Amino acid sequence: MTRALPGALALALLAGVPLPLTAQSPDTLDEYRAPAERLIDAATSDHFAWRRLAELTDTFGHRLSGSPQLEGAIRWAVAEMTRDGLENVRTEKVMVPKWVRGRESAEIVSPARRDLVMLGLGNSVGTPPEGIEAELLVVRSFAELETKAEHVRGRIVLFNVPFTHYGATYGIRADGPSRAARHGAVAALVRSVAPPGLRLPHTGALVYAEDAPQIPGAAIPTEDADRLQRMANRGSRIVVRLTMEAHFEADVESANVIGELVGREKPDEIVVVGGHLDSWDVGDGASDDGGGCVVTWEALRLMKKLGLRPRRTVRVVLWTNEENGLRGALAYRDAHRAELARHVLMLESDGGVFRPVGFGFTGSAPARQTVQSIARLLRGIGADWIGPVGGGADIEPSMEVGNIPGMSLEVRGDYFHIHHTIADTVDKIDPADMAASAAAVAVMTYVVADLPQRLGE
Ligand SMILES: [Zn+2]
Repeated sequence: MTRALPGALALALLAGVPLPLTAQSPDTLDEYRAPAERLIDAATSDHFAWRRLAELTDTFGHRLSGSPQLEGAIRWAVAEMTRDGLENVRTEKVMVPKWVRGRESAEIVSPARRDLVMLGLGNSVGTPPEGIEAELLVVRSFAELETKAEHVRGRIVLFNVPFTHYGATYGIRADGPSRAARHGAVAALVRSVAPPGLRLPHTGALVYAEDAPQIPGAAIPTEDADRLQRMANRGSRIVVRLTMEAHFEADVESANVIGELVGREKPDEIVVVGGHLDSWDVGDGASDDGGGCVVTWEALRLMKKLGLRPRRTVRVVLWTNEENGLRGALAYRDAHRAELARHVLMLESDGGVFRPVGFGFTGSAPARQTVQSIARLLRGIGADWIGPVGGGADIEPSMEVGNIPGMSLEVRGDYFHIHHTIADTVDKIDPADMAASAAAVAVMTYVVADLPQRLGE
C-alpha cells in the first residue's frame, strides 16, 4: 500500500482518516493517476464548458417546462451531443405541466401606498383580476402562525423566516401558503428563501396540501420582508394588494435528453451523470441548472476526446421539469426500471458550478471507501472531499427504486444569492471554477465506470 499515493496515505494517517479497505486498493487506483491527469489537463486547459453554457443561456434564456425556450434547448443539446460524437443520443418523451406566470404585482395600500418587489411562487393560483386586498399578518415561524391562528382569517400572511440553509428554510415557501389557508388566509407572502442580497425576489415552487384551499403565494425580497416586520412591530395596520394572473394550461410534451459512451467490457452496467435542463422562468438558469448539465456532459465529451472508453457505459441525462414537477426524474425511473439494478452510480450536479470541493455521497461503506480513494486523484484541484450525503432531485427516485449509490457535486460559491432569480446568469460563474468542476466530475465518473470491480463490491 505504501507504493501508491504515498503522500496522500501519509497525510491520511496523520489526519486519522480511515484507509480504504476494499478490493479497490490504492494499487488499483494508482493506474488511474495518468488518465486522471489527462482528464484534468483537458478540462482545465480551456474554458470550453463555460463557453458552451454561455451559448445555451445566451441563446435560449430561461427554460420553464412547457416553454418554447426549453424545447429549443433540448433540440440544441441533441445536436451538440451528436457533434461531440456521443453514442445513442436521443430524447425520451415526458409530458410536463405548463404553469404560466402572467402579469403580477404587489403593493402596500395602507398606511401609505408603495410598491413591493415580488415574484409569484411557481405553481401558484392567480388572484381575481382586481387582485386581493387585505390586512397583513406578519409571522416569523409556523409556530407563531399557530399561536396567532384566530387572527389569520381574511388576512394576507407574510412568513418572515430568515434563511439558514436551504434544506431548513425552503419548506416555508413550499408549505406556507397551505398552512395559512387552513386558518382562513386569503393569500400568502414569503420572505425569499435566500440570504439578504440586493433586493431580489426568489421564486420557487409552492406545494398545495390537499386539505387546504388553494390561495395565491408570492415571494418578496428580504429587505421588503424586514420593512414590513418593522412596520408591524410599530403597530401599523398594513393593508396589501396582491394581483397575479398565474395559471396552469394543459400539459405539453417535453423530453429528457440522453447521450452515452458505451462501455468497452460491461456495456450493460451504467454510470449516470447529469443535471436538469429546465429552469424557472426568470434569469437564464445558468447556475440552476444549465451549469450542472454542461459539467456532467463534459465528462463524456472529455473521455471521447481523449480516447478513454471505460469498461462500463457512461450515460449523461439532462432531465426536464425538475423545478415544478419532477416529471423527467419520474419518467426516467419508470422507463429504465428494468435496468436500474445495473446502475452502478448516479451523479447529479444541481448546486452550482463554482469552485469544486468534492462530492456528497450516499451508498454502502465499501463504496464510500472506494470513492474516498478515487477522490484523492482530485487533491491537486482541491476537490477531494467526500461528504456524508449525496443525491439530487432528479436521481433520487431512481436511487430509491434501484438501491443505487448517489453522488452530488459539491462546490463553494454564492449559489443562494442568485438561486431562482433574474440574476441567475452565466457571468456569475468563473470559467476556471467551472472547468475544475468538469474535471472533478470527469475523473470520478471515469474511474467508477472503469474499475475492475463494480463500485461497492
Ligand atoms: Zn436546480
